[in-house]
Amino acid sequence: MYDYHIHSHFSEDSSSEMEDMVKGAILQGAKEICFTEHKEFDYPVDELEFELDLLKYEKKFYELREKYMDRIDMKIGLELGLQKHILKECGEFVKKFPFDFVIASQHCMDKKDLYYMKLEEKNVKGAFDTYFEELYYDIRNFQDFDVIGHLDLIRRYTKEAQEYDISKSYQEIEEILRYLIDIGKGIEVNTGGLYYSSKLLNPSVDIIKMYKSLGGEIITFGSDAHKPDRILGYYKETMEILKTIGFKYLSTYTERKLDFVKI
Ligand SMILES: [Zn+2]
Ligand SMILES: [Zn+2]
Repeated sequence: MYDYHIHSHFSEDSSSEMEDMVKGAILQGAKEICFTEHKEFDYPVDELEFELDLLKYEKKFYELREKYMDRIDMKIGLELGLQKHILKECGEFVKKFPFDFVIASQHCMDKKDLYYMKLEEKNVKGAFDTYFEELYYDIRNFQDFDVIGHLDLIRRYTKEAQEYDISKSYQEIEEILRYLIDIGKGIEVNTGGLYYSSKLLNPSVDIIKMYKSLGGEIITFGSDAHKPDRILGYYKETMEILKTIGFKYLSTYTERKLDFVKI
């Protein structure tokens, strides 16, 4: 089992020790995990900084990888927050360190964080349009990543967004997926949303199917765990869904080089 989206206290929104996350992963039976700590530039919520201390992150990671090397394979990665106005900084940051794997995630739109956003009913379609327009802009202007994290994250947090008929945005989503396939990038299937009231995979099954039908093959699994007991959450169920859609392989990465493992 491969979990490619895990946080520890190196991310501002997690208080879990990295070692506890490793032990948790071993306990859940993981063969390989990838830490993907947050880095956000110009994050719009004042109380949260999402700075990432690369030196400390690196030191702790290699210490633990050595300590647990007989029991689990560990990769070092990044979850980088995209916003239209900070793409240059994103590009410079990724070059600073030889990450194994980079997730690009859009947690914000209009310089606001989705988690705190209120979607007025009449603006829901407009909000989805803006979200996907920004994402499309971001990936055309920044491409030093491996997969897009939780591609339809905007569906996760509010009732209005959960009730929105996503098929109204299929055209925009298809454009993004086609572009990702063209430039050789993948998507992740993120199970974090299954713990929210939305109970949705991100992206949802229809979008994963669309990606496959357009020729997409690069897919990673991510629990988005911020605590040890969430590692590999809903893994088996997700693999069943992916197999039903027709995927035979999950993607893994070493020093940004893509590999495939059988599901
Ligand atoms: Zn995220
Ligand atoms: Zn995350």
